[in-house]
Amino acid sequence: MAFMFECIKCGSCCKYFPEHCLPLRNWEVEKLDELAKEKGIKLNIVPMVCYFDKKSKIAFCMSYGMYNEPCPFLINDNCSIYEDRPLICKMYPVLNYLPAINTFNPKLDFFNNFGKCSNNDPKEIFKQYITGDQIHYNTNELNSKLKEIYGLNYLYSNQNSYINFSVSYYFKILKDKNLIDPHIIKKSNLSNYKIISFMDFLFLIGFKTKAEVDELYDGYKTLKKRLEEI
Ligand code: SF4
Ligand code: SF4
Repeated sequence: MAFMFECIKCGSCCKYFPEHCLPLRNWEVEKLDELAKEKGIKLNIVPMVCYFDKKSKIAFCMSYGMYNEPCPFLINDNCSIYEDRPLICKMYPVLNYLPAINTFNPKLDFFNNFGKCSNNDPKEIFKQYITGDQIHYNTNELNSKLKEIYGLNYLYSNQNSYINFSVSYYFKILKDKNLIDPHIIKKSNLSNYKIISFMDFLFLIGFKTKAEVDELYDGYKTLKKRLEEI
């Protein structure tokens, strides 16, 4: 297959976000705040899913969202912070890769894992391999084609899925072992809490060492490891 995805920098995905929100992780919030300060931009970033742990009395947040639409870092249809753009921007239009890995016979709805992009229509790209609702590739073939077509974007989505998986897994283990007693904080009550990131929470309660937390954050090592596994 000769086609390779190329971003034509139309800026469309930076102007409209699903639910008007760009999802962020905590270290991205810190970086964007710093860059916005330098550029004199006011950001509207809010914690999204937050819990108060009754055992440790610590409030933590699983994810953040930026409610500036269009993105204030978009200048003349170009990202002005390209090297520091969030992971979600790096992976777009590939949003999730796990369903391909987890399903032996991928179905057509696998393509719902792609964002709406002006220069990408995965159904069109794969049309010769589609009959009805079935994609005629096994998962290994599909993943290798996705890697070939979407290159780094695919790999970043891979990294994102790995982080999502790890975060959900840690949360579940802590709950199952009764090590935490998390209660969701209503959005209207958020201002009553001092909220830290989930990863800082893991470090504070001694569940993960600083090095392990950094390893999860560290894009390069995680990406490389996952790549070797594909
Ligand atoms: S919509 Fe697609 S082509 Fe346009 S900027 Fe976003 S990723 Fe690039
Ligand atoms: S950070 Fe850059 S790539 Fe991401 S939405 Fe903003 S302008 Fe687009």
